[in-house]
Amino acid sequence: MPIPNIIAIDGPAASGKSTLGRRLADSLGYLFFDTGVMYRAVTWGALLRGLQIGDEIVVTYLAETAQIDVRPPSKDDGRACDVLLDGVDITWETRRTDVEASVSPVSAYSGVRQALASQQRRIGLRGRVVMVGRDIGTVVLPEAGLKIYLDASAEERARRRYEEILQRGGQADYAKILAGVRNRDEIDSTRAFSPLRAAEDAIILDSDKLNADEVFAKVEALCR
Ligand code: C5P
Repeated sequence: MPIPNIIAIDGPAASGKSTLGRRLADSLGYLFFDTGVMYRAVTWGALLRGLQIGDEIVVTYLAETAQIDVRPPSKDDGRACDVLLDGVDITWETRRTDVEASVSPVSAYSGVRQALASQQRRIGLRGRVVMVGRDIGTVVLPEAGLKIYLDASAEERARRRYEEILQRGGQADYAKILAGVRNRDEIDSTRAFSPLRAAEDAIILDSDKLNADEVFAKVEALCR
């Protein structure tokens, strides 16, 4: 069987999707595209401009008009990619806690989703791509030849996020991170437009039970 041309990886926050996606893309020589950074870029743009996150019209207009670029990393500072908003490097701003707190409400707006998903689909249809998100297998690229849904418990995902922040030299409160993860899960999976869920033809993997190497080995075997 040939290697699938389009690989979709979906799942909740901090389930290990990006780690898996990047490794898989490197091993196959494919483009890795993490769609979450686009929702984060719009959210940061809204906060920076002082927009009300609850104002669907202005936030949607921003998503429709802002120029978001995602490029290979230009610096060796731990970033997975460069994220530019209207030409300005906002890579680290997209990881801020105020962005994390507002990104799910922003992502729930149908106009925001339409604006970003159409750009993602255009990139994905070029092929030789591993695309990571919440709705890649269900909405953005339902024709993907391999769909993975990577799950893990909220506690395990919060623990990973907590350690990631400490490793970067930051300060973190586990209970707050867990509450944030649960809140994002709730909004992402109950929203009206393209909610987080596994596609019917997705292979579901639980990263509570498998470490990163085991997940990678399983998915690589499914590809080859
Ligand atoms: O994956 P990441 O945690 O960076 O995603 C940030 C947020 O962007 C998610 O919590 C979700 O609200 C939104 N998102 C989405 N659809 C995607 C990717 C991300 O709604 N395809």
